[in-house]
Amino acid sequence: MKTLQKEKPSLHVFDTLESEVRSYCRSFPTVFTKAKGYTLWDAAGEEYIDFFAGAGALNYGHNNPVLKQKLLQYIQEDGVTHSLDMATEAKQQFLERFRQVILEPRGLSYKVQFPGPTGANSVESALKLARKVTERSTVIGFTNAFHGMTLGALSVTGNKFKRSGAGVPLHHSVSMPYDGYLGENFHTIDYMENYIQDTGSGISLPAAIIVETIQGEGGINVAGAEWLRRLEKLCKEHQIVLIVDDVQMGCGRTGTFFSFEASGITPDIVCLSKSIGGYGLPMALTLIRPELDIWEPGEHNGTFRGNNLAFITASEALRYWENNDFSKEIIDKGELLNLRLCSMVSSFPQLKGQVRGRGLMQGIAFETNGVAESLCELAFSKGLIMETSGTDSEVAKIMPPLIIDQTGLNRGLDILEQCMKELAARHYALA
Ligand SMILES: *Cc1c(COP(=O)(O)O)cnc(C)c1O
Repeated sequence: MKTLQKEKPSLHVFDTLESEVRSYCRSFPTVFTKAKGYTLWDAAGEEYIDFFAGAGALNYGHNNPVLKQKLLQYIQEDGVTHSLDMATEAKQQFLERFRQVILEPRGLSYKVQFPGPTGANSVESALKLARKVTERSTVIGFTNAFHGMTLGALSVTGNKFKRSGAGVPLHHSVSMPYDGYLGENFHTIDYMENYIQDTGSGISLPAAIIVETIQGEGGINVAGAEWLRRLEKLCKEHQIVLIVDDVQMGCGRTGTFFSFEASGITPDIVCLSKSIGGYGLPMALTLIRPELDIWEPGEHNGTFRGNNLAFITASEALRYWENNDFSKEIIDKGELLNLRLCSMVSSFPQLKGQVRGRGLMQGIAFETNGVAESLCELAFSKGLIMETSGTDSEVAKIMPPLIIDQTGLNRGLDILEQCMKELAARHYALA
């Protein structure tokens, strides 16, 4: 925990030159200089435990030493850095490793598209392909979904504020209630099935349904395994393309490489980004069921689909998935996290919190707006980086790098507990 308060680094150039659109630098107002594993340091030498992990882009930690070694060696040897989508050795090795370590052991036969380096790029390519394959235009998204900030991705995103940024009507999409959205006893798949089957519903047969197995940005809402299986069945029955957006929940966040593994479903298309590059380097994949891969050469193109530095670290990061050890570790740490969060919530009942999530994607949803924000602000002042999620920022989200050890996890949670205690005291004072 922090002791002596040193002078805060100046944010002057950011405040005066960088666009008003900047966001995370407002939540974490300091200038960072160095990072390692689950720790960040700022220009004043203050240390921060990272429970945000680059919004999920740093599952293997900051500057992971093994990945760094491979990257340095590749640069030293003048390996190709940028290649458009020309064939390079780095890409070849990545594709071979991905097939061998991820696809084959899971019995998956996906073709791999490199859609451009961001999650939104992957989502756009998935939507386009589903429309091309089915020759239908509507896509169903879910309440509180988040799929990225480009127009297609926004059209299936729930958040009103983000949607309004589009500046044009967001068409050809329909929002349906996510699992649990209308209360525990309301079966939202039945509801959706009615809409899809009934010729009087006013909704035309969709090209695709796009879903997150856990809605990270949307407030850590978890879809049940049975719900996902029923969704898959509904899609199969109506030849609707099922797209799982695994941009944030993939690469081990929930305990398995793909977040849908526990449910047993096999989506038609999977979007991956954030941690797939392994080192925080931009990279995204769109995984496509082979029969759906009807793209014409160059039909969905882009300059930055050949980030070879990311291919090098992505290949190396797959070493974590060569056996089940890493998966078990994540699940164990997830249990520890859950126990501690549940204990905090019951220790400070006046904060009216509820624990949500699975694996190393968990958080506390608060009944009163503003509590999660105050908590994250207080946490930052004590050297812990974490963010809120949910449309009203009502959830304090905890997503440390997956490589964090139990000591680091406990240190961060000790800070969080202290913050909960201080906030609870404030609430007593107000009551
Ligand atoms: C972050 C995210 C995206 C968008 O990825 P970008 O790289 O920011 O474009 C899409 N879907 C989900 C679920 C995400 O968490």
